[in-house]
Amino acid sequence: MQEICELCGSDALEGVYTPERSTRGITVHICGRCGLVQSLPRADRAPRAAAAVSGGADWGNVRYGKGFRTKIAVDAVLRQCDPQAHFSLLDVGSNRGSFARALLSAAPHAHITAVEPDERVAQSCAGLARTELQVSRIEDAALETGRFDILHSCHTIEHLAHPAHVLDDHHRVLKDGGRLVLDAPNIAILGADDIVEEWFIDKHLYHFSERTLSRMVEAAGFAIVEKADRGDAANLFLVARKADAVDSAVAADPQEVEKAYELMTSYVATRAHNMAALVAVAAELHALAPKGVAMWGAGRIFDSLVTHGRFDARALRLLIDTHLKAHVGERHGCALAGPEDLIQAKPGVIVVMSRGFADAIAAEARKFAPAAEILLYTDLLSRARTRLAA
Ligand SMILES: [Zn+2]
Repeated sequence: MQEICELCGSDALEGVYTPERSTRGITVHICGRCGLVQSLPRADRAPRAAAAVSGGADWGNVRYGKGFRTKIAVDAVLRQCDPQAHFSLLDVGSNRGSFARALLSAAPHAHITAVEPDERVAQSCAGLARTELQVSRIEDAALETGRFDILHSCHTIEHLAHPAHVLDDHHRVLKDGGRLVLDAPNIAILGADDIVEEWFIDKHLYHFSERTLSRMVEAAGFAIVEKADRGDAANLFLVARKADAVDSAVAADPQEVEKAYELMTSYVATRAHNMAALVAVAAELHALAPKGVAMWGAGRIFDSLVTHGRFDARALRLLIDTHLKAHVGERHGCALAGPEDLIQAKPGVIVVMSRGFADAIAAEARKFAPAAEILLYTDLLSRARTRLAA
């Protein structure tokens, strides 16, 4: 079947990249007309994978960044409506309920409808006051027209087979003038100097830029009223108002197409370079092993260090990951620990394996192990790249 672009309807979709270890055999395509980056084939109603985090491309069930985005979203909702008012909010992809809980306590008269397809996490919202839980895909939720004042959707839109249709439905279920609060991963991260992980995971079918996401939202009949700070290369955040129906035709955008190609080229080249540098990073860390090395962050960057840098995880004294620890017991043969284990382990070195949260993690690590030397992944990688270039 001929696939067409979800944003502009063109059939000019060109396959530009095959992610490593995709279990679904996906290929990343660029629309030659509007520049939207999208993965094909689209998984509509595909069976859900086990809660595995074993491969480069199957992190679907561990939505890593979601919890961290709660405060930003709650603050945005409270800017849009009176916290003391009675209002009705739809939380799309409520996950473990961190947003719902934060909003309920900040807005004492808010009523939430939480929609979450994954039974394993949905029940976290069961029994919450002023909250109605619907275990369902948003596409199947069949919600009443004009029912909600606010709709919150965080790191969900990129998972949908047909996000433009779902945005049309978001428009339908909102009251006139209702607000859409939307958060999604930002493809701009592909331009980062220290990118090393496979960014194109199987469960993400769309890879939005600020431009392509804004256009899709506008085409669904919304007017954007707030956009996040452009300095955030990892997330796209916007607030939009339900406007009157607008012309949903999406014009060609050659500049965006060019940007998408440039970004993909940069990603492939930078990543290849960084994967080679990871071998040197691994060697440096092996040499530090006698001092006792603790690593904080067992996610995709750590995966890359083991897989591409051939790092032996058994060289670690401790592997910390507060988030993953809740889902899995070990990574690459190394048991997962919590920050408090640093007190007993007394490592000489703590390596922070995170990009977006490096400073926060380093500060936390200092509390538990004030004597340890702290090394950031970004610095290790940058030193290795310089050596490689020499
Ligand atoms: Zn297109």
